[in-house]
Amino acid sequence: MQIITNINELKQWRGGIEKQVAFVPTMGALHAGHMSLVKAAKQNAQHVIASIFVNPLQFGENEDLSRYPRPFERDVAMLKSAGVDALFAPSPEELYPQGFATQVCINNAMDSVLCGAHRFGHFNGVCTVVALLFSLVRPDIALFGEKDFQQLAIIKRMNDDLRLVPQIIGVPTMREADGLAMSSRNQYLSETERKIAPVLHIVMQQVKANNGDLSEALEQGKADILQAGFERLDYLEVRHAQTLEQTHNVHNERHNARLFVAAHLGRTRLIDNIAL
Ligand code: AMP
Repeated sequence: MQIITNINELKQWRGGIEKQVAFVPTMGALHAGHMSLVKAAKQNAQHVIASIFVNPLQFGENEDLSRYPRPFERDVAMLKSAGVDALFAPSPEELYPQGFATQVCINNAMDSVLCGAHRFGHFNGVCTVVALLFSLVRPDIALFGEKDFQQLAIIKRMNDDLRLVPQIIGVPTMREADGLAMSSRNQYLSETERKIAPVLHIVMQQVKANNGDLSEALEQGKADILQAGFERLDYLEVRHAQTLEQTHNVHNERHNARLFVAAHLGRTRLIDNIAL
């Protein structure tokens, strides 16, 4: 596996490839969820390139940029053994040299709901780095996890508008045995918190199984999450899977409805979602 840290090298690598290239962007601290994206990439293209970049633009002032885990050697070994052809791991200065002033943002309600309402500017940072990476890597296919479902929906919108990559593939969420969605941030959890964390998944399943009044089920779910030991709940909401608009009649639109949750456990913010 070729490890590429600068843009000229990346252009050289890309220039030498004629067959299909699939791209898996990550922030590193890789786990089986990331590896399922790599597996899907390999099934869909002859060449796979991954990136590791902890993007400062998408972290808020009081968020975890400085303590975000960066086990680079371990990540390299995982990508190598999964058969990835190249890893692009630029420094912040390489991607954002002095004077960098452009932001890519989507201009509709998708950006202002759910995590957009709680992490101001987050999706501008995501869109900016993803558009930049797309223009440098020029993949035929890019893969993103449904774990970050709002991010996937926003990137699809941005990509449809800017026509950067021919195909975006969403990959289902990989979970631990107890239902907790895999995440690099799970390593922040203490032993006690780790036992509490699967409550998010349990509550989502309970809301999904409920055939009665949805708002009552959501209110019960919110109470259960706080009761279990989460300090704060950002949202537990049902929205349309493509537009992220609020769905009022889930029974009529069940095939398009998705349940989203974000909650704080100690110093860790966990998110998850499922189809209803
Ligand atoms: P991150 O490194 O957290 O930025 O994630 C990189 C990519 O992996 C994103 O497209 C995520 O949605 C995806 N991802 C993260 N966790 C999971 C998971 N548990 N299952 C599937 N995909 C995931």
